[in-house]
Amino acid sequence: MTQEERITLAERIKDVQARVARAAVASGRRAEDITLVAATKMNDADRVRAAIEAGIRVCGENRVQELTDKYEQNAYAGADLQFIGTLQSNKIKYLIGKVSLIQSVGSLKLGQAIAKEAAKKGITQDILLEVNIGREQAKSGLMPEMLPEALDQLRLLPAIRIRGLMAIPPIADETTKNLRYFNEMHQIFVDILTKKYDNVNMDYLSMGMTNDFETAISCGSNMVRIGTAIFGARPYPVP
Ligand SMILES: *Cc1c(COP(=O)(O)O)cnc(C)c1O
Repeated sequence: MTQEERITLAERIKDVQARVARAAVASGRRAEDITLVAATKMNDADRVRAAIEAGIRVCGENRVQELTDKYEQNAYAGADLQFIGTLQSNKIKYLIGKVSLIQSVGSLKLGQAIAKEAAKKGITQDILLEVNIGREQAKSGLMPEMLPEALDQLRLLPAIRIRGLMAIPPIADETTKNLRYFNEMHQIFVDILTKKYDNVNMDYLSMGMTNDFETAISCGSNMVRIGTAIFGARPYPVP
């Protein structure tokens, strides 16, 4: 990375942090109530380290292989590491012990498989349940009506701890910015919170990306996952 690239990256991070803070305040919360997760996919270890140096505290990776490679290069030192991508059961073992949170648990089966691997290692793995709020065929995630059963089953497994919900709505429409889906997600989040399931914590509502994070925050999101606004458009040039 050149010095200039480092400066640009630091400026972008400051800008995103300021936008998150403004959106938080506008919805009656504080900046520190919102967790900013930098979506670090396709950024090499150097860029990830530069982002952490510039103030990023949480990194979210999408692919297990990429995470493992960068982890071995000590890319995430000083930050919290989370997994936000599609996860195959046979790769779970590479995440346990490395990530503080697996955000993308989109099926009962996957949750059970994570519990099994975590139990083997004597770890309690924090997870979010991913909801397919747009009901898209091609996307993973639990349909909203499947949530009660998933919660009922997964909350009984001591090696996982449900910490909230995550959603990736359809590609944001320029005018509505997914307002409807974000509102639906918030409603579901509050419903679960109100029902007070044993062993279910609704600490995080993870929604909002580069194109729509301010709208998501206005609808109650307290965790945003941002890639492009921090690192620029993908794919990145090979340094
Ligand atoms: C890449 C990614 C993001 C960030 O997307 P941007 O639009 O680049 O901000 C957020 N969440 C997930 C799951 C991602 O894969």
